[in-house]
Amino acid sequence: MENVFAAAQATHTDEQRMLLENFRRMAETELAPLADKHEGLGHPPEAAALKELFARVEEFGLISGLIPEADGGALIDRVSYGILYEELARVWPDLAIAVLIQSHAAFTLSLLGNPGQKAMYLDPLLSSERIACTCISEPDVGSNVREVKCRAERQGDKIFVSGQKLWISNGAQSDFSIVVCNLDDGISMVIVDRETGKYESRELRKLGLVAASTCELFFDRSETTSDHVLGKPGGGLFQTLKLFESARVFVGLTSVGIAQAALECAVTYARDRHQHGKPIAGHQLIQGYLADMATQLDAARLLCQRGLQLLDLGVRCDTQTSMAKWYATEMAVEIAGKAVQIHGGNGITKEFAVERHFRNAKVMPIPDGTTEIQKLVIGRNLTGVGAF
Ligand SMILES: Cc1cc2nc3c(=O)[nH]c(=O)nc-3n(C[C@H](O)[C@H](O)[C@H](O)COP(=O)(O)OP(=O)(O)OC[C@H]3O[C@@H](n4cnc5c(N)ncnc54)[C@H](O)[C@@H]3O)c2cc1C
Repeated sequence: MENVFAAAQATHTDEQRMLLENFRRMAETELAPLADKHEGLGHPPEAAALKELFARVEEFGLISGLIPEADGGALIDRVSYGILYEELARVWPDLAIAVLIQSHAAFTLSLLGNPGQKAMYLDPLLSSERIACTCISEPDVGSNVREVKCRAERQGDKIFVSGQKLWISNGAQSDFSIVVCNLDDGISMVIVDRETGKYESRELRKLGLVAASTCELFFDRSETTSDHVLGKPGGGLFQTLKLFESARVFVGLTSVGIAQAALECAVTYARDRHQHGKPIAGHQLIQGYLADMATQLDAARLLCQRGLQLLDLGVRCDTQTSMAKWYATEMAVEIAGKAVQIHGGNGITKEFAVERHFRNAKVMPIPDGTTEIQKLVIGRNLTGVGAF
């Protein structure tokens, strides 16, 4: 396996190769056992443990890597960051999702926050002292972000946020939320601190990524102040779409990591398992599967890497990031499904890791815009005609 992918990695710089080797060593020795432990427990790490994990991966820049040095970040180019992120997703995709939420909350604060907001909320994210979540979805608001119902009411200098949010990653462990809600100026992003806002969370049990927190959040006149409006009052919708543009590539890369892990399992099993007098790898139909899986995986990876390059260039690239997101997440479902098939009966048991990879892969075509929504974005950008 190493040899097959060595040629593809020849495009990495020496620095990227060294960074990846060091990170892989740490991830396989420290994170992989924790991934197994939490899979067995069936629930996410507690807040204190998650903060320790964030601090550990931040040693490689995975929390602050998207943030400029002027804001206390360790800005690294997105392609290098993406190489490490994919490796984290290969070893523990549940933690990768938590890191994606934390790093993109930091990214949003760095982009939109004023100096006071940065001191109060960005700095403690970068030092892993606090955990953030971003609340867009609601029970009646999924793909239709424009129809957010959550309300924020101004009373003097105070703002009271009321409403229910759904599917919120890192919701259980969060110290504060960036809430997309209706303020009198229109859809806005408002920071609600858990200490003063006293919002409640309820963990949802999922098919896959069971160690990534996904919550229902309840805001009942949750108190915050007018200096907690993030970015332009009324600019929340545009700000959310900009956040999606970057986050979508990382959702795609999460799937690339999951699919890579599934392919590795399939290749090993196909070599070891003998039927009809030879390894099943020696049967042409199995080799055909493996060739398809490796090709789809590489195509998905390349689309994601291209998305990262475009984001670094700072050009509008929602078409390309939507392509990367839908293709990578759907391909991972196919790849992990074939990996299960290659394992025969063993593939559907919890004794073999492919069962977990398949369940994890199936989650990913949904968050940050479903496959259908990504195709509608691409179609609208191609034709100028909205079909939502
Ligand atoms: C693991 C996970 C983590 C998440 N994390 C967060 C988070 O941190 N913060 C957050 O705010 N949200 C989060 N989400 C929510 C996620 O973004 C939504 O689930 C997603 O946007 C889809 O919304 P929905 O589930 O309400 O589906 P719906 O919008 O109800 O869609 C249901 C189905 O209808 C399709 N559909 C909808 N509209 C159209 C249309 N116009 N044309 C064709 N088909 C359509 C969809 O593609 C889908 O197949 C997360 C979700 C998951 C699964």
